[in-house]
This record gives sequence, C-alpha cells and structure tokens, in this order.
Amino acid sequence: MYIGDVVEMRKPHPCGGKQWEVVRVGADIGVICLTCGRRVLLPRRSFARGVKRFLRRGAPPPSEL
Ligand SMILES: [Zn+2]
Repeated sequence: MYIGDVVEMRKPHPCGGKQWEVVRVGADIGVICLTCGRRVLLPRRSFARGVKRFLRRGAPPPSEL
C-alpha cells in the first residue's frame, strides 16, 4: 500500500467509520479514520489482514518507480 490509498476495513472504527486513508508506510502503517479524523498506527501485517478493499490507490513514491 502507498500513502494516499483509501481503504475500507473489515472491522469498523468505534466511531462507526470504515474508510481510512494511509498517511504513513513503514514497519507500521499509519492511517486516519475519514469519519472522525483519528490517527492510528497498525503493524503492517494486521493492517493487511484488516483491509476489505481499496477505494482509491495512491501513487507509489518516486524512489520505487
Ligand atoms: Zn473513526
């Protein structure tokens, strides 16, 4: 996944939101809940497991082209 990706998670946030935008990619994935704006860090593996589908794909960083 890349920064700017918007994903729908299998498990909704306590606020009821299911859509998240990826804001940080590393050992942990940083995502912001698009419903309440809360920022959360998830280990890459549990993030990958929790993704239901991609709603929007961000662009890969130039270093990966
Ligand atoms: Zn939320």
